[in-house]
Amino acid sequence: MSVNVEIKSYPLFINGEWIASEANRTFDVVNPANGELVAKVASGTKKDVDRAVEAATAAFEQDEWREMAPKERSKILYAIAQKIMENAEELVGLEAISSGGTVRRLGSNDVLQMVDLFQTLGKFVIDYTYSETLPSPPFPGPAHNFIWREPIGVCAAITPWNMPMLIASWKIAPALAMGNTIVIKPASYTPLTTLRLAEIISEVVPPGVINVVTGSGKEVGEALATHPKVEKIAFTGSTEVGRHIMSLASNTIKNTTLELGGKSPSILLEDADLSLALPGSLFGVFLHSGQLCESGTRLFVPDKIYDHVIDGLKELSEKLVLGNPLDLATDMGPVISETQKESILSYIEKGKQEGARLVCGGQEVKVEGCEKGHFIAPTIFADVTNDMTIAREEIFGPVLSVIRYSEVEDAVRMANDTIYGLAAGVWTADVNKAYKVVRKLRAGVVWINDWHMLRNDAPFGGYKQSGIGREMGRHSLDAYTQVKHVHTSMVPEAERRTWYSLLFSNQS
Ligand code: NAD
Repeated sequence: MSVNVEIKSYPLFINGEWIASEANRTFDVVNPANGELVAKVASGTKKDVDRAVEAATAAFEQDEWREMAPKERSKILYAIAQKIMENAEELVGLEAISSGGTVRRLGSNDVLQMVDLFQTLGKFVIDYTYSETLPSPPFPGPAHNFIWREPIGVCAAITPWNMPMLIASWKIAPALAMGNTIVIKPASYTPLTTLRLAEIISEVVPPGVINVVTGSGKEVGEALATHPKVEKIAFTGSTEVGRHIMSLASNTIKNTTLELGGKSPSILLEDADLSLALPGSLFGVFLHSGQLCESGTRLFVPDKIYDHVIDGLKELSEKLVLGNPLDLATDMGPVISETQKESILSYIEKGKQEGARLVCGGQEVKVEGCEKGHFIAPTIFADVTNDMTIAREEIFGPVLSVIRYSEVEDAVRMANDTIYGLAAGVWTADVNKAYKVVRKLRAGVVWINDWHMLRNDAPFGGYKQSGIGREMGRHSLDAYTQVKHVHTSMVPEAERRTWYSLLFSNQS
């Protein structure tokens, strides 16, 4: 694939229009595969956030949007899916040249997953339980009681650079499906597809329903997390920034969804089919050069087959092709930036210093035609112990730590010995053995003989410090609503209202 890079300047997208930032500052978006300038993007300010939140508030106050019938909303979600499909090639190209994701993955997975997400929620909004009638209560007295699900209001989304358009969709789709309005702040490495997505979506929703303010986390992100008119904040990113967002959001008691980091364990049992488990474990950790939150970065392998497994992993890893993400033959593209590359290399150094055995990779790679890119060879460490830094901290790069165990109980204990709980996996030929392990694993998604398989009708999110709340599936619709209890008394006579005596002692 080739992408025609005509260096464009992107303003902010507010109220259905492209609008210049009040400060007139920009930042550069650079292709991580070759260092070329891709775009100049407006660096928003607190005042720009105010403008976007005002637009989103005005759009939310319109009954036309908030009270729209589910059937009409469903049509809008299907129309968005259609528009994403029509613009798929452009979205994939923009995302590849800014995030370093391969067009093979983006074109055959991410963009289709987005289409399916809007269609899935388009189906769910039709039969969603917006109102529930409760049986007439014996206490305190006869009444009609309902529980209504209502939109929350203006939602803010702050997203990371690793899967920008997909993660933005995980927030936009349920927010719009439930009648909210949204302001999004994408990561500064990768704002282009979110901006384009907002433009596409605005063709079928009223102005102000979707807005994008680009800029720094410190300025734009914090302004959103503290804005009194933002009622929900949905954040995806590192656990460290997530903690900060949670504390900022506490001042105005915002409804908060956090999708954070991981250090996900993959447990290989002795009876596993290695022809599945070895490529599967590498698929689990090296896809998108290890820059996926639910990557299986710790692999637990039984003593008896440890050396055999290490040899097999090494052989397969060394066949992976690093290259330009636009080339269909590329297995692994670059990591996002020079800073990220340095951070990954310093973790690799730490792994060596702490006594892990480097099996393969461990160094930067120069790719022909992409000399200014940030490529790191797929790296495997053996003889890792669960207390080493490379087994405890999220590296967010192509680094696998292989940890030895003798009893399955020990593997499970070590697997759970982490602050994270995003994903986990078990490889075995015996599904009953798998379920026993799965029940003990403290993670939001557990795969048996597979990895990275997320579906749009199933919830995704973390246990422990990997997050709060769930995205995708029906759970994501709940996450963008609030609950109202409506009570209608069926006792028209004051004298029969025994509960009035709680105040009036002497009614006659
Ligand atoms: P990050 O936490 O550095 O940044 C995420 C977003 O937060 C960016 O838009 C950034 O500009 C913004 N931000 C930074 N500082 C801020 C502040 N003080 N106030 C408000 N906003 C601020 O994360 P990243 O490096 O972009 O992404 C990688 C991280 O994201 C990894 O930890 C990964 O595990 C996590 N992630 C989690 C999931 C999930 O679903 N759980 C999915 C993808 C990525």
